[in-house]
Amino acid sequence: MSDYQAPVPQMRFTIEHLADFAEVVALPDFSAVDADTVGSVLEEAAKFAGNVLAPTNWIGDRQGVKVVDRAVQVPQEFTDAYQQFREAGWPGIASNPEFGGQGLPKTVALACDEMWAAANVSFALCPELSQGAILAMDRHATDELKQTYLEKLVSGEWAGTMCLTEPQAGSDLSALTTRAEPRGDRYLVTGRKIYITWGDHPMAENIIHLVLARLPDAPPGTKGISLFVVPKYKLNDDGTPGALNDVFPVSVEHKLGIHASPTCVLAFGDEGGAEGWLVGKPNEGLAAMFTMMNYMRLGVGAQGVGLSERSYQKSVAYARERVQGRAPGEKGRVAIIRHPDVRRMLLLMRSLTQAARGICYYTASCLDRGAHGTDPEAVGRWQSRAELMTPIAKAWCTEAAQEVTELGIQVHGGMGYVEETGVAQFYRDARIASIYEGTNGIQAIDLVGRKLLRDGGATVSDFVTDMRSVDAPLANAGEGLAVVRSALSRALDELVQSSTHLITSEKRDPEATGAAAFDYMMLIGNVLGGWQLARGALVALEQMATSSDKAFLQSQVVMARFYAEHVLPRCTAHAAAVRAGSASTMELAAESF
Ligand SMILES: Cc1cc2nc3c(=O)[nH]c(=O)nc-3n(C[C@H](O)[C@H](O)[C@H](O)COP(=O)(O)OP(=O)(O)OC[C@H]3O[C@@H](n4cnc5c(N)ncnc54)[C@H](O)[C@@H]3O)c2cc1C
Repeated sequence: MSDYQAPVPQMRFTIEHLADFAEVVALPDFSAVDADTVGSVLEEAAKFAGNVLAPTNWIGDRQGVKVVDRAVQVPQEFTDAYQQFREAGWPGIASNPEFGGQGLPKTVALACDEMWAAANVSFALCPELSQGAILAMDRHATDELKQTYLEKLVSGEWAGTMCLTEPQAGSDLSALTTRAEPRGDRYLVTGRKIYITWGDHPMAENIIHLVLARLPDAPPGTKGISLFVVPKYKLNDDGTPGALNDVFPVSVEHKLGIHASPTCVLAFGDEGGAEGWLVGKPNEGLAAMFTMMNYMRLGVGAQGVGLSERSYQKSVAYARERVQGRAPGEKGRVAIIRHPDVRRMLLLMRSLTQAARGICYYTASCLDRGAHGTDPEAVGRWQSRAELMTPIAKAWCTEAAQEVTELGIQVHGGMGYVEETGVAQFYRDARIASIYEGTNGIQAIDLVGRKLLRDGGATVSDFVTDMRSVDAPLANAGEGLAVVRSALSRALDELVQSSTHLITSEKRDPEATGAAAFDYMMLIGNVLGGWQLARGALVALEQMATSSDKAFLQSQVVMARFYAEHVLPRCTAHAAAVRAGSASTMELAAESF
């Protein structure tokens, strides 16, 4: 039996009750989706993740990938699993039906993404990047390019990549130098990209690179960046892959984790120029690429949830088996799950994981409502909320994953530090999630700079009003949730004060935003997690009398209480750090560090 069982009841509960699913399926585009469809998609995905993908995870970690004769080789098990993934139709579940997709809501597809990442995050990155490329092309490419590429990408026959980073251009894409020279109806792309995930591999029949590059007359900085589609194999007249294009993997990185995800240095145009086609307008490539980046950011948040869940499951299993020490009122030695400190770790793991899941699925639901709504006012509101949520889903959920996967090692004691349990791999694999797709520091700056300050706090304020509406039901719920009510109310107050503080201190202390952004991101993420767990606890109490699964519902209530007692108090510390401004952070000269 697989050591990963996707927590389908918890996922369904989250979709239905914490991601406002009734509102999502009320949208005309999703009229054919109902609870049964969601249930069967999740059950099938769980089987695929547990039975097909999870067993390849350890193999990929051990074997890794390599470049041989200008081509990346991956474990055969990955190629076989990808074939099955394609045949089962998983690549296109949320894609546009016009190109062969199934058009399911993102809210459902994200739960599947969580499962793929939990089962084998190295593998999951490949279809995830393809989906991001599909979305960017669907939104910004010409009809001709869409007809040429999208059906094959949606079916998974071809895979996509995202080529932004260069040695001198990481967080700061304004420094990128890859060039694109016009040649008739196409462009010749030359330059070197680094860290390109799944930049080459044999699993798909063609690889479609989305590449940021500069036109010869482009203005400097981010206003001079354009987006190009560059296929690995040029296409024959009938659309089938033909001769190799001038783009090759030079090497793959040796890294801390995700060993089976090829992180490539890609050379474009060493032999004269890789043929590419412009996507969107000249010099507006960064905005077009943001479609893909935002998609990936939420996906990376879901990777954090998946790895947290898997680490939690392994830790619970170990804590039930491992016998050490004695406990009050028990005869003989006990399993470590009996010890309060081990329970503290397990509950912290479980409640952080569920809080992160609640944040990610809710973000997906905002995206669905923003993209498929019919009322312009509501659409605007959900789009703004999705934009606010995206950096939080990426950064807070992956910070949570660092903590959860680290706790997973701690629960295992020495066995956690040695590789054979597999729990160390989850920690190593999770570490990249705080870095790629824009570091968590950059996410936090985006959150404060673009999502809080730019509209004077209006979007945050609107959300706080929504979150405060759980106060009355929490009051009615009585003593059982009293601690949740008081901790959440205090945390919301801290959030409001911190938001006001940042808005009013921007001019007085220009470095304050940068100095406080990370704490503000952690503060708002902690509050959102507490709000989602509180909502879950309220639903659980309501269903308790009639449900046959009282243990599941009780666990929702206990998670909310534990989080209110152990995580929400962290908001006070984050708020204090936000208020501290930049003075001590900026005082030392660089040479004094
Ligand atoms: C395994 C892996 C896979 C990747 N996959 C891809 C991929 O598929 N495609 C792709 O294009 N890229 C990819 N990347 C690149 C990744 O997105 C970058 O590494 C990341 O955005 C950070 O850039 P950098 O490494 O240059 O770090 P730097 O930008 O040098 O940052 C270093 C530190 O400085 C901080 N920092 C930088 N600028 C600022 C600022 N203005 N304000 C405050 N702090 C700042 C950062 O937060 C970070 O802590 C991948 C990277 C890795 C390691």
